[in-house]
Amino acid sequence: MIEQATIDALKTQAIAEQHLFIDGKWQEASERGRDEIYSPIDGALLTTAASATAADVDVAVAAARRSFESGVWSRSEPAFRKRVLHKIGDLIAERMDHMAVLGVRDNGTEMQMAYGAEPGSCAQTFHHSAECVDKIYGEIAPTSDKILGLVHRNPVGVVGVIIPWNTPLMITAWKVSAALAVGNSVVLKPSEDACLNVLELTRICQEAGLPDGVLNVVTGSGAIVGDALARHMDVDVLAFTGSGRVGRLLLEASAQSNMKRVYLELGGKSPNIVFADAPDLDMAAAVSAKGFFKNAGQVCVAPSRLLVEESIKDDFLAAVVKHSQAIQVGDPLSLTTQMGAINNPRQHQTVKQFVATALSEGGDVLCGGTPLFEETGGTYFAPTVIDGVGRESNLFKEEVFGPVLGVTTFKTEEEALALANGTQYGLAGVVWTANLSRAHRMVAGINSGVIQVNSMSRIGNEAPMGGMKQSGNGVDKSLHAFDKYLDYKTAWIHL
Ligand code: NAD
Repeated sequence: MIEQATIDALKTQAIAEQHLFIDGKWQEASERGRDEIYSPIDGALLTTAASATAADVDVAVAAARRSFESGVWSRSEPAFRKRVLHKIGDLIAERMDHMAVLGVRDNGTEMQMAYGAEPGSCAQTFHHSAECVDKIYGEIAPTSDKILGLVHRNPVGVVGVIIPWNTPLMITAWKVSAALAVGNSVVLKPSEDACLNVLELTRICQEAGLPDGVLNVVTGSGAIVGDALARHMDVDVLAFTGSGRVGRLLLEASAQSNMKRVYLELGGKSPNIVFADAPDLDMAAAVSAKGFFKNAGQVCVAPSRLLVEESIKDDFLAAVVKHSQAIQVGDPLSLTTQMGAINNPRQHQTVKQFVATALSEGGDVLCGGTPLFEETGGTYFAPTVIDGVGRESNLFKEEVFGPVLGVTTFKTEEEALALANGTQYGLAGVVWTANLSRAHRMVAGINSGVIQVNSMSRIGNEAPMGGMKQSGNGVDKSLHAFDKYLDYKTAWIHL
C-alpha cells in the first residue's frame, strides 16, 4: 500500500494537457476542442483533454483497421502478444503510486479502495490476459472419418470500447486486455469524467511495444464520440460498461448501422439478504455497511437493497447504522478516509434527489441523508440508510449509484427470493445464512450474474462477471471473456 507521504508529494503535481492517441501518435482533436477536467475532491480544474469529433473517430477506426489487416498484431506470434501484455502489467505495477494518486484526483475514489482496485487490479488483469494468449484454441468437431471439421476462433477485427467513470482502469483492463490478447485492434473511448488514468495506461501500452494503430484512444463526449463509435460501419464489436440508458442507445445505433455485436455491462440494484440464521450477524452488519459504502456506493455490483429477516431487524439495523455512522468520509487522498467523493456534481445532485423522493414515498432516514463538506467545493455525501422501502418505491427499483442503502424486511425465504428478483436488474447479490441448503436454494433462485454467500469480497479474474435481465449480456473476466472478441469459423473438409 502507498504511504501518506508519497501521496502528499504526488497530489499537487501539475497534470499536462491531454491529447487523442491515434495510430501511435498523440494529437489534437480535428476541431481543436478541449474539455475541462475537474476534481471531485475540491472542484479544482486539473487540466483539459482533447474533445474528439466524429471525424476523429473515423480516423481512429481506419487506423485500427489498417493495423488489424497488416497482421502486425493480429497474426503475430502468440509469444509476442504475451510479452507485450505482461510488459504492460509490469509497467503499471511499477507506477502504481503515480497512477493511484492521479486516478483519485480525477474520480474521487478513496485511496483505501483505489490502490488495489484501480492500478492493482489493472496490472493483474493484463497479466491474466497475457497468460491466456497461448491457451485459447480452436476445436476439431466430432465427425465421421470422411470429414475433418475444424473450428477456427479468429479475432473479430476492430473492437470499440466505451467505459464509465467508476473504476476506469479496472474496467478498461477487463475489456481492452482481452480484446488485444486474441489479436484485435481497439478504439477506446473513456468517460469524460475520468479519462486521465486511461490515457496514462495508453502511454504504458505504447512504451511496452504495442504496435501503432492497435490501440487508439478518443476522448470527448458520449453523445458525439461514443455515438460515432457505436454507429461506425467498420467497428465489428462494441463492448460497453455504463448505464442502461446509454446501453439502449448503443443497441439502437448498432441496429441502425452495421448490426455490430454489442456487449453491455449495465447497472444493478443488487440485494443483500440477511437471514436470522447468518453465521455471524455482527460481522454481517459490519461487512454490509463497509462493503456497500466503499467508493461512495458507486460500484455496479454494490448491494444497495438490504433485505433483512423481520425477526432480527431491530438489532441488525442498529448495528448497520452504527457501522455506517463510523465510516470516515472525506478527502479520498487521505489514507484514513474510508469513503471519498461522488464523481461529479451531476451525480451528486442525483443522489440528493433519490433521498428526497424516498422521503416523499414514506422512507425513514436512519442515518445520513445530507451532503457533506460543501465548503470544500467537493462532492461529498453522508453514508445514508433508509428504512421502510416498499417494493413499489423508487429506491427499491432504481439504481442510485451513490451512498444510499434502502432497507426492506421479509418473513420467509420465499418472500426474500421474490424481493431479490423484484427489479429489472440481475447483476449481483449477497446471501447471509449458515444453512447450506438454503444458501444453494438462494444461489439457484436469484437471477443475477454473481452471488456471494457470507462474504462481500472482490472476485478475481478467475471467475466471469456479467449481468442478467437489464444488467447486460456477455461477461468480463475469466476465459469466457475472450469469446466476445472472437468469431467462430468452421472448415468442413471432405477427405
Ligand atoms: P453512462 O452510461 O452515462 O456513461 C458511460 C459511457 O458512455 C461514458 O464514456 C459516456 O461518455 C458514454 N456515453 C454517454 N452517452 C453516450 C451515447 N449517446 N452514445 C455512446 N456513448 C455514450 O454511465 P456513467 O454515468 O459513466 O457510469 C455509471 C453507470 O455505469 C451506472 O449505471 C453503473 O451501474 C454502470 N456501471 C456498470 C458496471 C458493470 O460492470 N455492470 C460497472 C461500472 C458501472
